[in-house]
Amino acid sequence: MADHCIFCAIVEGKIPSHKVYEDEKTLAFLDIHPSAPGHTLVIPKAHITRVEDLPEEDARHLFAALHKIVGRIQEAMGAPASTIGINNGRESGQEVPHVHIHVIPRNRGDRGGMIQGVSGSPQRLNDEEMARIAKEIRERIKGV
Ligand code: AMP
Ligand code: ZN
Repeated sequence: MADHCIFCAIVEGKIPSHKVYEDEKTLAFLDIHPSAPGHTLVIPKAHITRVEDLPEEDARHLFAALHKIVGRIQEAMGAPASTIGINNGRESGQEVPHVHIHVIPRNRGDRGGMIQGVSGSPQRLNDEEMARIAKEIRERIKGV
């Protein structure tokens, strides 16, 4: 547990939250500034800042918790869909340095956007550039 981390304080019960789910390794509670009713944050109990630094076991648990509750959140809110996303690192908009998955219930006509819009500038890349990029990534994944 990291000092001064607001989500660690929630895990420890030092700060109140509207909990919706808890198990040994994960916790889910309502976002205090909801983008829609039922906006939920799903977090690992361990203080890890970024997805890539989560132990694999914690990553599995986190996604399993998401999988368990996302349909129930939608049902409870009468929402046919949800946007699920993680701000991973400060430059992406991450303000709380403790991994959290946003689950935002979505409705037809809510005038929200798509995740593909977050980076601001859509790219046009030709096939050669795409192939080079895929290779750069593949080479780094190899042996991981
Ligand atoms: P992010 O920009 O992905 O780091 O988002 C952090 C989220 O945490 C924001 O949507 C905040 O509204 C939410 N948040 C901050 N403090 C609390 C809190 N005490 N309880 C619930 N949600 C919080
Ligand atoms: Zn923390």
